[in-house]
Amino acid sequence: MSALDLPGWKHVYSGKVRDLYRPDEGTSDGADDGGATERMLVVASDRVSAFDHVLEPGIPGKGELLTRLSRWWFDQLGGADGGRAIPNHLVAGAAAPAEVAGRSMVVRELDMQPIECVVRGYLTGSGWAEYQADGTVCGIPLPSGLVNGDRLPEPIFTPAYKAPLGEHDENISFERTVELVGPDIAVALRDTSLEIYSRAAALAEAKGLILADTKFEFGLDADGTLTLADEVLTSDSSRYWDAAAWRTGATPEERMASYDKQIVRDWLASVWDKTGTPPELPDDIAQRTSAKYRELLEVLAG
Ligand code: ATP
Ligand code: MG
Repeated sequence: MSALDLPGWKHVYSGKVRDLYRPDEGTSDGADDGGATERMLVVASDRVSAFDHVLEPGIPGKGELLTRLSRWWFDQLGGADGGRAIPNHLVAGAAAPAEVAGRSMVVRELDMQPIECVVRGYLTGSGWAEYQADGTVCGIPLPSGLVNGDRLPEPIFTPAYKAPLGEHDENISFERTVELVGPDIAVALRDTSLEIYSRAAALAEAKGLILADTKFEFGLDADGTLTLADEVLTSDSSRYWDAAAWRTGATPEERMASYDKQIVRDWLASVWDKTGTPPELPDDIAQRTSAKYRELLEVLAG
């Protein structure tokens, strides 16, 4: 995990994929927001994680592809898609260091809510595992007889508690979310997440893609406004499938032809028993993933 020396910024934190920086004392980037909120620089690396482990080596170009896709989605959700403007953490007009310009965003530092706001329109992944065991996803009962990859009767909000670095995120019920953040914020997280999912899924569908599920993170700004943060609707935080393949596919593999990190997860699950250090990511998996991330950006954003 190599954080860079960036002029005007000091490194403060590294997550699995992103490195965060705060301005060095006395630095001004020229953007005018009255200085009400602290700035942060979020730099996306090429690191890839699966099952909460960072793998080596990274995916070539991934940091830039994720950043371009996030920016495109922030723009759509800002009203370009015809919907209401969802507040987001980007600082307009603020310059990032040239060295990382393509893969970084200058944002407002928010009071992050410890909830991963997952929305599922289709049944797969950890949702499919829970459904097979209990007939529910995050405690929400679902009709019987669904198979892996099926569309749900309606999109569902299935939050996870965001565990501290090194621990695993934990699926929780809506009631538990209310206990953790209070009823007002819990309802706002749920309703905003469902709204964004349905707007994004409609947009993806128009481009021949299924947005099977996705994860949002929100924070509160200095005024207490719920604000969309982190990355949004990327191939790291979402599952995207080819809609035509999903309709005609005979097997789960054919139905869920993915444009996302599933390629890495499937490879890792086939070679590793999830104990100890994961094996090195083979070059062909890294290249295929990189190509799919690029294809997704092209299909969506053109
Ligand atoms: P973890 O937080 O456990 O490290 P992660 O591995 O997913 O999770 P990354 O995505 O690599 O982390 O790092 C991004 C970090 O930046 C996350 O912790 C996220 O919550 C945080 N973050 C994103 N946007 C903002 C913001 N506007 N203000 C403050 N923190 C933010
Ligand atoms: Mg993250």
